[in-house]
Amino acid sequence: MSAKYVFVTGGVVSSLGKGLAAASIGCLLESRGLRVNLMKFDPYLNVDPGTMSPFQHGEVFVTDDGAETDLDLGHYERFTHAPLSRDNNLTTGRIYEQIIMKERRGDYLGKTVQVIPHVTNEIKNAMRKVSSNGADVTIVEIGGTVGDIESLPFLEAIRQMRQELGRENTVFVHLTLVPWIAAAQELKTKPTQHSVKELLGIGIQADILLCRCDRNLGREMKQKIAAFCNVEERAVVGAKDVPSIYEVPLCFAAEGVDSLILKYLRKEAPEADLTNWKDLVDRCYHPKDVVSIAIVGKYVEYEDSYKSLKEALTHGAISQNLKLNVTWIEAEGLESKTPDDRSYESQLAGFDGILVPGGFGKRGIEGMLNAIRYAREHQVPYFGICLGMQTACIEFARNVCGLKDANSSEFDPSSQHRIIYKLRELLGVEEMGGTMRLGAWTCILQEDSLAAKAYGGATEISERHRHRYEFNREYEALLTGGGLLLSGTTPDSTYVEIVELPGHPYFLGCQFHPEFKSKPLEPHPLFREFIVASYKNRQGRLSSDVSETSTLTNLLSS
Ligand code: GLN
Repeated sequence: MSAKYVFVTGGVVSSLGKGLAAASIGCLLESRGLRVNLMKFDPYLNVDPGTMSPFQHGEVFVTDDGAETDLDLGHYERFTHAPLSRDNNLTTGRIYEQIIMKERRGDYLGKTVQVIPHVTNEIKNAMRKVSSNGADVTIVEIGGTVGDIESLPFLEAIRQMRQELGRENTVFVHLTLVPWIAAAQELKTKPTQHSVKELLGIGIQADILLCRCDRNLGREMKQKIAAFCNVEERAVVGAKDVPSIYEVPLCFAAEGVDSLILKYLRKEAPEADLTNWKDLVDRCYHPKDVVSIAIVGKYVEYEDSYKSLKEALTHGAISQNLKLNVTWIEAEGLESKTPDDRSYESQLAGFDGILVPGGFGKRGIEGMLNAIRYAREHQVPYFGICLGMQTACIEFARNVCGLKDANSSEFDPSSQHRIIYKLRELLGVEEMGGTMRLGAWTCILQEDSLAAKAYGGATEISERHRHRYEFNREYEALLTGGGLLLSGTTPDSTYVEIVELPGHPYFLGCQFHPEFKSKPLEPHPLFREFIVASYKNRQGRLSSDVSETSTLTNLLSS
């Protein structure tokens, strides 16, 4: 049986949520008992997003095999169980890199190497490789917007796929915008018509249109779009803005997207079972209370750079029936002017939990150290991820163990006390570009630690990494002497993976990025327990506020 594909393209403007649309289609097909795989082609020339600025590109999502990928792969993993690896995200840069390597090796036997067929063949081979993994349906997202010069080879490749595999094995889903024009008090279909026409000019007739809009698309609108764009009326799908991204699969289901795709693909499948998703969305929309978390970091003005983090916190909150309130605090703003300056405390008071996420470079470090000190001293739950674990160790060395100039060699290469350093550099290993510790590593947990309890008593776990610097075990005796517990290490004990502070309600730092493995239906244990502890802190604080007020009321009334 031939492999089946759903191709997702986007038109009119970028940022319409193509990744989410692809992920939601994946989720729906999975809910009908099918095995799906998802992949994304990014038309830019960078070989991968690993070296791109978080401001330009948003988060770099890391897969188990250590690939640095587009953040849409994070959506794919959160919405489905597709096994993702470096094969699931390719850029123009990587495609060309492969072709040029082959050309240099003489693989093309002296032929002229061209976009058609060589580049398009490389793209098609990449799709076949992913779909050969046992998937019933492979969903292929083409990055960029129709009309971009860069995405042409990818669109040509999917056009050829339709020619080769036929209608019953390929579906073209096109995401467009139907804007509301306030002056006319009307939704406008013209941009959608143009975008579909643009696609047709390349030889692709869209089968299904996902129309992003801020209100319901009425029947008439759908008929009009269907007529002008040459699709069935039921193939015009209103993709209305919703408060939670986790509602999108339910909206698509209500519009019959899954049944239509299966009809076009001539594929039978059981009815969808969306019970868990419905329950999830229901809890998301009816929280019993709130929990407020401060995230102290460097790229806080650009939320996309911490996409998975925000989602993982949300998963933890939903699991406790709570609404997550996140406040992003720019770390630089928490720095002290003089050694005794504690004015930053007022910015941190009142949060239920504090989190320092991953990051690179020196900017804002002193502010993060202040935030961690505040959390440690005031018994406020603290969760440090990667950089947030490294800074927790530095703070502890400085303020508890008295090592005033403790630092990471990343921020001060000449520091006397490099609590955090580049281990491999000291081992004499060459350090260049791609020298990060990336992807899944096994971690052994100390029994009865906070971490082991969170993971349900497990002693061995696997988590994903993306960093260069490590905890320096020369300082282990000093820090553990001060009360820090190293509760997780790699099996060979080389790398410290988790530190925690016994006696504190929740003070945990991990060298890995647990946010990459959290799913809405399977919240990550460390995030869940951080939320539990933060909410406990909130209740404790509020009840002591209440008892203070009632004592005051008693005093006044007596
Ligand atoms: N900058 C630190 C390192 O390279 C932390 C990286 C991170 O937080 N992802 O080790």
